[in-house]
Amino acid sequence: MTTDAADSALNLSLVRDRNDATVLRAVRGCGAEGVSRVQLAAHTGLTAQAISKITGRLLADGLLTEAGRVGGGPGKPRTLLTLVPDARCALGAQLGRDGLRVLRVDLAGSVTGSRREAVDLRGEPGPVLDRLAELVGELTADVAADRVLGVGLACPGPLDTRSGVLHEVTGLPGWRGVRVGAELAARVGLPVLVEKDTTAGVLGRLGAENRAFVYLGDGVGAGLVLGGRVQRGARTNAGEFGHQCVELAGPPCACGARGCLEAVCLAALREGRPDRAARVLGVGVANLVRLLDLEEVVLGGDVLLGAPDRFEAAIRAELADRLPDPAWQSVTLTRAPWAAIPLGAAGVVLAGVFG
Ligand SMILES: [Zn+2]
Repeated sequence: MTTDAADSALNLSLVRDRNDATVLRAVRGCGAEGVSRVQLAAHTGLTAQAISKITGRLLADGLLTEAGRVGGGPGKPRTLLTLVPDARCALGAQLGRDGLRVLRVDLAGSVTGSRREAVDLRGEPGPVLDRLAELVGELTADVAADRVLGVGLACPGPLDTRSGVLHEVTGLPGWRGVRVGAELAARVGLPVLVEKDTTAGVLGRLGAENRAFVYLGDGVGAGLVLGGRVQRGARTNAGEFGHQCVELAGPPCACGARGCLEAVCLAALREGRPDRAARVLGVGVANLVRLLDLEEVVLGGDVLLGAPDRFEAAIRAELADRLPDPAWQSVTLTRAPWAAIPLGAAGVVLAGVFG
């Protein structure tokens, strides 16, 4: 199933139109305290009549519930509405070089189940996708089929998320041209939305309107949010941060070029020189901040999060050295949750509901 088709399937299954999504988003934003229909009309700009109609069908579908009443002022007491988080669930999966990770989240984005398994992706794709489908099946076994919205699948790039096809993923020639979205959808019988892993990572938590998720694990990459909008680029492959050249005559990179940041950084780590790796990453982050005028950099990936103090110190030092006015161009460094990538992948599915 293509992303467009999957979007349609998600929309048809839950949200009838954009206004439904607007109302659901507004109710979710008000949290457990609830929100009245009058407040919803004020928040969304929709008419009282439209709010009444939309909340009526969302209540009938079990997505909203009446949580109590507020009164005391003039007029009749107002009924408060809240989201029913477990009315539906979404799955976020990560196809990583070191294995598979799958999370189940409810409509509030809370994790309600997880699976993790070491799998070598250098083998045939079929058995790996079979196992991923089994993990999805385990996490949805106790959920009625019509309550599962779909699977967000985060994969290493380069890839085209619209067609769900992987391209020349470095070190994984067996996956070239594999339609991972369609292959997994056929196995699980659910819509599957494919996302680049680092783009999922930047969506794994809320943050500044202009931020990057910088990943250092078995590779180096970045996900981008600019002006509050995720940036995927012309071919959905933006964020190949690790393949910027930092040494013209540097070591060969798995991508076929030479002196890429990823190659230099990983070579330093292999040589037991983590301080050099951290400094090179810091130079890359400073380049990225200067290029895009970022206000936040979210640090992720198991190597980086395994020694976060070292990498943060190096990145701060390079930002201080390389930005013309570091006090004016202040950058917040934050640490991503360990599960940022599958969380972000599930968030892509939820975005089909909440807009
Ligand atoms: Zn490269």
